[in-house]
Amino acid sequence: MAETQSECKLWVFVEQRKGKPAEVGIELLGKALNLAEDIGWKVGAVLLGHQVEKLADEILSYGVHEVIVADASGLAEYHNLAYVKVLERAIREHEPEVFLLGATTMGTDLGPRLAARLRTGLSAHCIDLELNDTGELLAVIPWSGGNSLGRISCPRTRPQMATINPGIFDMPPPGTVRGRIIYINGAVDQSDFGYRIVETHHQEAKPGDLETAEVIVVGGYGVGREENWHHIEDLAAMLHGAVGATRPPVDEGWAEGNQMVGQSGRTVYPRLYIGIGISGHMHHLVGIKKADLMVAINQDPNAAIFAHCDLGLVGDLKDIVPSLIESLKGYSQ
Ligand SMILES: Cc1cc2nc3c(=O)[nH]c(=O)nc-3n(C[C@H](O)[C@H](O)[C@H](O)COP(=O)(O)OP(=O)(O)OC[C@H]3O[C@@H](n4cnc5c(N)ncnc54)[C@H](O)[C@@H]3O)c2cc1C
Repeated sequence: MAETQSECKLWVFVEQRKGKPAEVGIELLGKALNLAEDIGWKVGAVLLGHQVEKLADEILSYGVHEVIVADASGLAEYHNLAYVKVLERAIREHEPEVFLLGATTMGTDLGPRLAARLRTGLSAHCIDLELNDTGELLAVIPWSGGNSLGRISCPRTRPQMATINPGIFDMPPPGTVRGRIIYINGAVDQSDFGYRIVETHHQEAKPGDLETAEVIVVGGYGVGREENWHHIEDLAAMLHGAVGATRPPVDEGWAEGNQMVGQSGRTVYPRLYIGIGISGHMHHLVGIKKADLMVAINQDPNAAIFAHCDLGLVGDLKDIVPSLIESLKGYSQ
């Protein structure tokens, strides 16, 4: 039986695990609805999984025009080759102009594979999106060493694809249900993939993880060497917070890759952020803009980060952090 044709030119992949949508998928729906309204496009939310009817209904309540669902037992768990196969088939069949994904672990795995199969372009880790009146997507990214913004377009191929960091757009309020659910082919043959999933283990977020921590202490390249990294960890421990890093400490091996905060790392939402030895490149700042209170420690009074923080301490972190820890001791019980 032929599939119902999608009327939507702007598709948003709403990733889900165990029937729970990733917030970034919903954030993107809100943005997509705003963008599409100006040029009269319709927005479709793309949902893959198994027994996801309830979630499809929930997504409709955000006011999208369609929820495009592939529901099959082979899609119950995320499996990149299976998801790529289903999405490639659907995109070839329905020809959306734009396909957006969250820059999550799943989205950054899925997006480039899909773009390569479709021979189209993908702008990764975008921090904003614009759509002009001819339907050209302009994907906004930090540019020129992270000190200004650039716009990337994909003029010759379709769909225009982009991954967007979580937490950039606000969650939309539930809107008027005006859409429909359409089903697309979700059939996959696991034997095509050359491997078999034997077991799946899920790692739940723990208190102290960057995304859930109320206090985050982030170390930058100004920490200088691995032996100094304990200053970051000691302060975080004193404040019962989590430890993050900019990219250079990760490259140097002082911190783990999953501790990186920023455009290609995590987006964080702490009540208190303390950035130590960090200059303030936009690549990092986009990951912390939802922090309630920002404190920066830097020996350079002209460091860009001071223009963004609520409280700045100028001086050598090797002096400031130990004395901060000392003075906090009286309050830490
Ligand atoms: C596509 C792309 C994506 C990127 N994604 C990310 C990302 O997700 N996250 C990220 O962080 N970066 C990212 N980057 C890298 C980013 O552009 C910057 O290079 C990086 O954020 C700089 O890190 P930093 O501030 O720690 O180091 P630096 O810019 O080298 O700054 C070090 C600071 O430490 C200060 N300092 C030095 N010694 C001391 C001391 N003893 N006491 C106090 N202060 C001191 C200096 O004054 C300086 O301001 C990305 C880059 C690209 C191209």
